[in-house]
Parts: sequence; structure tokens; C-alpha cells
Amino acid sequence: MAVIVQKYGGTSVGSLARIEAVADNIVETRRKGHQVVVVLSAMAGETNRLLSLATSIDKQPATRELDMLLASAEQVSISLLTIALIKRGFSAISLLAHQIGIHTDNSFGRARIKSVSSKRLLQALEQEQVVVVAGFQGQDDDQNVTTLGRGGSDTSAIAVAVALSAAECQIFTDVDGIYSADPRIEPLAHKIENIAFNEMLVMASLGAKVLQNRAVEYAMRHNMPIRVLSSFEPGQGTKVMNEDVLVAETKNLNPVTNIAHQKLEALVEIEGVEDHHTIASMFTLLGEAGIEIDMITCTLLNCCKYNVKFSVSRDNISQIDDILQKMTQKNGIRAIQYNDKVVKLSAVGIGMKSHSGIAGQFFTALTEENIKILLISTSEINISVLVDESFLTQGVLCLHRALCKTSDISH
Ligand code: ADP
Ligand code: ASP
Ligand code: MG
Repeated sequence: MAVIVQKYGGTSVGSLARIEAVADNIVETRRKGHQVVVVLSAMAGETNRLLSLATSIDKQPATRELDMLLASAEQVSISLLTIALIKRGFSAISLLAHQIGIHTDNSFGRARIKSVSSKRLLQALEQEQVVVVAGFQGQDDDQNVTTLGRGGSDTSAIAVAVALSAAECQIFTDVDGIYSADPRIEPLAHKIENIAFNEMLVMASLGAKVLQNRAVEYAMRHNMPIRVLSSFEPGQGTKVMNEDVLVAETKNLNPVTNIAHQKLEALVEIEGVEDHHTIASMFTLLGEAGIEIDMITCTLLNCCKYNVKFSVSRDNISQIDDILQKMTQKNGIRAIQYNDKVVKLSAVGIGMKSHSGIAGQFFTALTEENIKILLISTSEINISVLVDESFLTQGVLCLHRALCKTSDISH
């Protein structure tokens, strides 16, 4: 009998009617003879509601206490679902992360899973129970409650699936698979049947929030197949799998499979940086403060000074400003500017490795729409640009229509 891990996201458990529907879905899987472990998110909107309670008291709430607060939302959804399963005559038990031994580091708000114990889960499965686990949370070495970052229930589900050597990890959400662009922006986006781990990892890191990037990273490391499915309608969804298997099964690999977008980005421009030592210490200080820098450009000016530009997540701006202002007093930095009205658009595809001409098509599509590019970064399998946020929809549509033609889709 295979163990299947099913994760249901916030919208999928967003009301009592939805929780009853999820219970029916689990009963169906159980009737097919599978052992089921369920990982749940909080009911839709609950994490944001709790977050705004905390920030009404303090704009930057104590991080330990914030995790304590936010983790409580998943306790509500798991107990309600378990009540619904028991009502249906099934033996079921809800468990919090610390009760099944999900151990994390102590980075509150963005903790990483270090290990998951399978002991309690296996005991419950042996007793024929459906186990309903709280996603998004963990416990550090000092028994503090931690949370795994927004969208972190995906990572909880993968970690539980790996600990149980499950056959696959099914992620049930409000779309019926992974699409060639966010279907809420691009109505012509098409569903992708199979996608490689590394392609999905890049997409998720570039903003495709259908899966948390750490979940994909964890699954890739342990070769745990993921299937993204709709909790609202039946279907095969999208399978996320090993690149070698995918390439072997696919005749013509598309150069670009997806256009991803990332909202809430900010551009930092620093003019007249004195020398490269200043650049090095600037990025070292930002790194030590835990700030993740994204795209970077550095231009050498005639007078041997540098202009440096980089992008970051918008909520880092005030912390960055504190660090840079202190540096300005000591080192030669002429001016610092912040633009917090930008977004990132990216084309992603493992097929880019073996195709030329994609950059030409990418920049032509943006130029034809008069979309001004503020920053560029590329890797083997993606091209990304930072643009003004007013171009979000127009940019996704023009790139998708230029680069992701349905007739080309072969995987
Ligand atoms: P859940 O609450 O189930 O975890 P999320 O809101 O985190 O759901 O993720 C699902 C959402 O991801 C979809 O509603 C969709 O708008 C968005 N999304 C972004 N990019 C994509 C994509 N390429 N394919 C499918 N969905 C995407
Ligand atoms: N409830 C958490 C969030 O809203 C975790 C999750 O949904 O995956 O981010
Ligand atoms: Mg999610």
C-alpha cells in the first residue's frame, strides 16, 4: 500500500464547505487503498489577518512572537479537517509540527527544515489513521515555534513525503497545474504536463508562487516527484520530475516554457562608489544582515568610480538604507536612490541551453511595447528584467505571446 502525501493550500480549505470537500477527496484516496498523510495550510486570508494584528501593535514585531502567532492559523485548519474526517467514519488525527518532529534552524519567519522524524507518523499509519499535519511550522533546537516563510506548507509537505519515502507528493491548489504563465494574468497560458525540477525551481525563485522554491529544492535534492493538482476539479495536473527523465521522454524541448513575474521588487542605485573595496564591504554588510540581493550591475565610470545597481525585495528597503547611510558617512558614496515601484519579468526554460536567439525575441517583444528595461540578469535557463510596475500585465502578455507558443509545446 503506497503512502501518498497530499497538501491543500489556503483557498482549498478557505471555508467549511471547502474543508468538507477536501475531506471527501481524502476519503476517495483512502478508498483506493492508499495510506494518506495530509499537510494543510491555514484557511485563506488567516495568515494575513494575524500578520496585520501583529503589525498594528508594532510595525516590526518581535520575530519569535510573530512565528508563535502565525503558526496558530494552521492549528485551526488541521483540527477542522480532522473533525470532518472522523464524522465520515474514518480514524484520523491532527498533529502539529513539533508533535511529529519537524526540526528547523532558528531563523524565525524563514526557518529551514533540518530533519523530520518519521516515528510518530509511521505509528499513526500503522494504526490505519489518516494523519493531518500542520504545514508552515517547525520547532528549533530550543523548542521555539518557527515558520518556514510564506507558502511554506509546500515545503512541509515535501519534507514529510521524503521522511516517509512516499510514492509522490500531491500539491492541491486553486489552479489545475503549472502553467506557461500565471493564468490569472495571461488567459492564453497553457498547462504544462511535465516540468523539470530545476526549471520549476528557477520559476518559483523568479516569482511563480504556485510552489515555494524551497519545496522544489527539497524535492529535487531527494528526487521526490511532485504533482500539482486542482482541489476543485479532477485532472492529471502537472508532474515535476528529474530533468534527465524529462529530456529522455521529450522529442523537442521548448526553449521557453514559462514567463514568471515577481511583484514587490525594489531597485537600489548607488552612484559614485569610491573603489571596489567599498563595493565588497557593502555587499558583505548587506549579506551579514540577511538581505538577499538579486540582480546586480556595476559600471566603471571615467573617473575610476563605480555606479552600482541591484534589486531586492521591497520590504528590505529601510534596513538597507540604515546600512548604506552608515557607509556613506565613512566611505565615498555620492548618492543613493530607491525605486520601490518595479517588478521583475522572466522567461524560463531548460531548452534555452540548446537554443540561440531567445534574447533577441525577448528584447524585441519588450521594445515593441515600449517597455523600458531598468536592469537585466541572465543564467543558462532564464532571462530576467526589472521594469516599472505599471508594465506588469503588458510585459507578461507580450513575452508570453512572443516566446511560449502553444503549438510548440511538447512537454
Ligand atoms: P495555495 O494557497 O494553494 O498554496 P498559491 O496562491 O500559493 O496557492 O499558489 C497558486 C497560485 O499561483 C495560482 O492561483 C496562480 O495565480 C499562481 N501562479 C503563479 N504562476 C503560476 C504558474 N506558472 N502556473 C500556475 N499558477 C501560477
Ligand atoms: N499559511 C502560510 C501562508 O499563508 C503558509 C502556506 O499557506 O503555505 O503563507
Ligand atoms: Mg502556496
